[in-house]
Amino acid sequence: YDDRDGKIWMDGTLVEWRDAKVHILTHALHYASSVFEGERCYNGKIFKSTEHSQRLLKSGELLDMPIPYTVEEINAAKDQVLAANGLTDAYVRAVAFRGAGDEMGVASLGNPVRLAIACWTWGAYYGDAKFKGAKLDIAKWKRPSPETIPTAAKAAGLYMICTMSKHAAMAKGCSDALFFDYRGYVAEATGANIFFVKGGEVHTPLPDAILNGITRQTVIGMLRAKGITVHERHIEAAELEGFEQCWLTGTAAEVTPVGQIGDYTFEVGALTREIATDYEKLVRA
Ligand code: PMP
Repeated sequence: YDDRDGKIWMDGTLVEWRDAKVHILTHALHYASSVFEGERCYNGKIFKSTEHSQRLLKSGELLDMPIPYTVEEINAAKDQVLAANGLTDAYVRAVAFRGAGDEMGVASLGNPVRLAIACWTWGAYYGDAKFKGAKLDIAKWKRPSPETIPTAAKAAGLYMICTMSKHAAMAKGCSDALFFDYRGYVAEATGANIFFVKGGEVHTPLPDAILNGITRQTVIGMLRAKGITVHERHIEAAELEGFEQCWLTGTAAEVTPVGQIGDYTFEVGALTREIATDYEKLVRA
């Protein structure tokens, strides 16, 4: 991804894609002082751009790393980099991090908080699983307690076990891994939230140890607007057997049906298809 044409927004200016570099003593590289956003632009408009910019600022605050831009400035920078690359349908990646500076150690108050925004064309996150239903492995790692790490932040440090779990899943022919949390409750996939259907009602984990995804919140709103009951609650591992349908939500994943988790299978049913179609219409509206 590094040696190609294009522009990347970095600290207030557009730079050539292949020149968008950082120093090896960048604090974030050593200590994970990094937060990010994944967004999608549809037909020239970023879906929930402001919500993503707000979450980025919030993630920075949670890591004691105030990002020196306003929501409006970040929104404008995203639009600027999309236009500079001539993209109207793209994935947008904003990343804020502690750079190199006065100090090189755990403390980093003297190091600047930097912001970069890149964008590129990105199709279906789970490929043809979008139609067939994704197969999920069960991660051996657990989502940590909010007393261990700020789980509400979209922070790079929370993704170390995601990469490891996703690699393990792919080695078994799965599209992704499902995490349980530190208490043993169903949590989330490595880059997406999870929903289940049983008897016409929907169940999804409480966002008390997972990322409260912007897609998750959108889909809950869509379901409730249709008069469908949504239970946000703690879901036990043993309940997986009784659910009829399952899907994942995320900016990259959009609404992707799940056909299998470990040994449990799910039908790619009517409600799953309806929500996936409705979401597609909504983001392009
Ligand atoms: N959980 C994790 C761990 C994620 O990385 C993502 C993707 N940002 C999500 C959930 C879904 O969040 P969103 O809908 O805001 O993209």
